[in-house]
Amino acid sequence: MSRAEPVVVALDVGGTGMKCALVRPDGTVHHSERHPTDADRGPEAVTAHILDVADGLAGRARADGLEPVAAGIAVPGVIDEENGVAVWSSNVGFRGVPLRSLLGDRLGLPTVLGHDVRVGGIAEARLGAGRGQRHVLFVAIGTGIAAALVVGGAGYSGAHGAAGEVGHIVVRPGGTPCPCGARGCLESEASARAIGARYAELSGLPAVTAFDVVTRAAGGEPLAETVWRGAVEALADGLVTAQALYDVGVLVLGGGLAEAGDTLLRPLRAAFEERITFHRMPSIVRAELGDTAGCIGSALLALDHLRSLEPTA
Ligand SMILES: [Zn+2]
Repeated sequence: MSRAEPVVVALDVGGTGMKCALVRPDGTVHHSERHPTDADRGPEAVTAHILDVADGLAGRARADGLEPVAAGIAVPGVIDEENGVAVWSSNVGFRGVPLRSLLGDRLGLPTVLGHDVRVGGIAEARLGAGRGQRHVLFVAIGTGIAAALVVGGAGYSGAHGAAGEVGHIVVRPGGTPCPCGARGCLESEASARAIGARYAELSGLPAVTAFDVVTRAAGGEPLAETVWRGAVEALADGLVTAQALYDVGVLVLGGGLAEAGDTLLRPLRAAFEERITFHRMPSIVRAELGDTAGCIGSALLALDHLRSLEPTA
């Protein structure tokens, strides 16, 4: 055994930026840095940049007297975790990129590839707002809406790596067109983007954000209140469906919209209670780890993998 303290190289790659960190085995962060993704450069350039950044982090760890023992990387979209392939990430431009082997070969470290929301869910379930609960649904509400079911600390990825797409539960049949091709998806009715767009459409004001709508609604503006109530009700419809499927103990809400705090949580809990019949009410809470959840979760996944490689005594 080396005497140097172990650390994991962790990256969470999104459409606009990458969050990168050196994470200790207990989930605390030794060092973090951010870089633009610049997805418009194309997938080869983005991949090369990812490998350089990861290599730089490993070098930083060694310079700080730490030993990089594994690497974890998370990307959005459809991920083949078993084979370590980013199958399809529209906002990063990946199609069939074998990120795990590329990164593992570059760093010479055991490496895992995970789904951004799923690893965020693992981090929230183990170390954040889902601590102490066995059945956790983490729901990220931002530009889109996606969720991760975490049971006993392990993320559920489904048969094709696409589990947790609650954003495409149809809550308003015939409603707002969704980029997926359907209409009235939860994401097209209640994401931060949808809330801003709905208010802009009804008010005639350009470039309104969900934050503006929340602020105006809290100030008692009728149109903003109507738009906000509509979004909260759509969210409750979608999440009650998720609860019917998963029966979790806690719903952890993350992403930009969760920053509305009680302005979201209070009416959402009330709308949820109105809708449930025999289902059990989960607690509905705000995520605790913020946007570092993806990095921490990638590191936890990498550590799980490392443990699985250890010879059993
Ligand atoms: Zn959809």
